[in-house]
Amino acid sequence: MAEAQPSSPLFKSTAPFDDPKADTILRSSDGVDFRVYRVILSSASPFFKTMFSLPQDTSEDSKIPTVPFSETGRILDRFLRIWYPGATTAGFDSLEQLADVIQLALGKYDLQYLAPILNRQLRVYVENHCVSVFAIACRYGWKASAKLAAKQALNLDLPSIFNSTAANPYLRHITGDQFQALLIYHHACGKAAAAAGRLLPWSDAEYAWNKCTVTSCAACGQYSEIPGRGRVVPRAWIFTYLDEASAALKQRPGANVQNPALLVGAQSKAMSCSSSSHGGYHATSPCRSHGLQDLSKFVTDKYVPAVNEAIKGVLLQI
Ligand SMILES: [Zn+2]
Ligand SMILES: [Zn+2]
Repeated sequence: MAEAQPSSPLFKSTAPFDDPKADTILRSSDGVDFRVYRVILSSASPFFKTMFSLPQDTSEDSKIPTVPFSETGRILDRFLRIWYPGATTAGFDSLEQLADVIQLALGKYDLQYLAPILNRQLRVYVENHCVSVFAIACRYGWKASAKLAAKQALNLDLPSIFNSTAANPYLRHITGDQFQALLIYHHACGKAAAAAGRLLPWSDAEYAWNKCTVTSCAACGQYSEIPGRGRVVPRAWIFTYLDEASAALKQRPGANVQNPALLVGAQSKAMSCSSSSHGGYHATSPCRSHGLQDLSKFVTDKYVPAVNEAIKGVLLQI
């Protein structure tokens, strides 16, 4: 048998894998020994049961069988700690490490009952690694997590999604159809979110942009019929905002439409409502007195829920 490499100075097995009464040693590829009980491993996985039914190598030290593993000590440790009785869970250092452990547990050693725990762990990484999490979730058939990751990807524009596919080791395990489903979902959400604003009751008569009659305040080319008031021509600045927000949502369907950068153009137009020289109306500009307040209320109460609703209506086809 080939000599194991010397123990990594960075990693040493700890309790419960240092039990002197254990009957088997699992030796990692970098020479870390894990002392375990065969009966525990056999009952955990058919893979181990089969392995221990074969003649064991007891030629080395300590007279107990040593089983060589192709995983590093750190990976083996994280893997064992998810399920080995008496072990405290160590958590994961990175998505890469978690992905290795998922493949070990579900792919190689067939511990399918660990799937819910690993799926939960995967979600920890969704915020910063949505494309990778999407791919891993698709690979193992975790649709709810794939959906969560696709939804998170709405905060990115398409060029950023393409960037995160470069040298991504997880995408090769999913089909082209699955990746395309992510892109189609993103595109469809962008379209639905971008359209949401124009369908809203922005024409509510109480809003400042509909109340304003200051002649110098630019009016919009379109009007709305408001019950009890007839035809109302809203001030153009509300559409300045809706158009900019819509463009932002088309690129990034998860864009925050309450972002001050999106509001500032409309705000400055609203605030300049009565500043021109049409005498007499200056004191009664609803845009100036209530424009910002109404816009903020409209965005919070009507626009944000409408965008969320529009996105909720888009299905991820995986
Ligand atoms: Zn207009
Ligand atoms: Zn006005």
